[in-house]
Amino acid sequence: MDHPLRVGITGGIGSGKTTVCRLFSVLGIPVYDADYWAKWLIKNDPQVRRGVIALLGPEAYQADGAYNRAYVARRVFADANLLAALNAVVHPAVERHSRAWHEQQALSGCPYTLKEAALLVESGSHRFLDALIVVTAPEEVRIRRVMERDGVAEEVVRARLRHQAPEAEKVALADFVILNDGQHALIPQVWRIHRTLVARAHQQTSA
Ligand code: ATP
Repeated sequence: MDHPLRVGITGGIGSGKTTVCRLFSVLGIPVYDADYWAKWLIKNDPQVRRGVIALLGPEAYQADGAYNRAYVARRVFADANLLAALNAVVHPAVERHSRAWHEQQALSGCPYTLKEAALLVESGSHRFLDALIVVTAPEEVRIRRVMERDGVAEEVVRARLRHQAPEAEKVALADFVILNDGQHALIPQVWRIHRTLVARAHQQTSA
């Protein structure tokens, strides 16, 4: 494959993005975990570190260089403008890094790559993708899953939910929707999307 498609996968908290990505990964599709790499870039990328310090002061990092997550969360979750400014530093860096990662994966001949991010739509980076998959599940199911997975109270999950765009907004932008409500099997849904994307990638190559 000369040029693999760039596909994004998102969904609300607890929808099952990571679970679904594991299935794509079993099919040999490389997955970029944007939330992981965002944290990595905040810690390791000098340009991002400078941007974070310019916004939040040197307290954003501890003496040993580790990111002071608790301090930053306290500041940005109390101030929507500051959160937007922090995102304006981190999201473009993740976009650049994921683009370079995609080019690297292209060398392996994969038909497409997946970029997994909780805030793919909120960050606007879905605009740079060839297709978007949205994983959905009813809100009550998502809340229960996260409470069980993270051992946190319902209010904690609801507070995190408030920082995300409504599911319907993401579904409206989706090329593919995966319903992960615990009633509908995931494997056939993933397989159908995979076949479609492989066919699309081949069409693009032969065009
Ligand atoms: P977050 O936005 O918090 O990163 P996520 O969308 O990546 O979450 P997962 O971590 O994949 O969601 O799933 C949340 C929890 O729900 C996990 O503990 C996972 O094992 C469980 N889960 C996901 N899908 C199902 C399912 N179909 N049946 C049962 N449990 C599930």
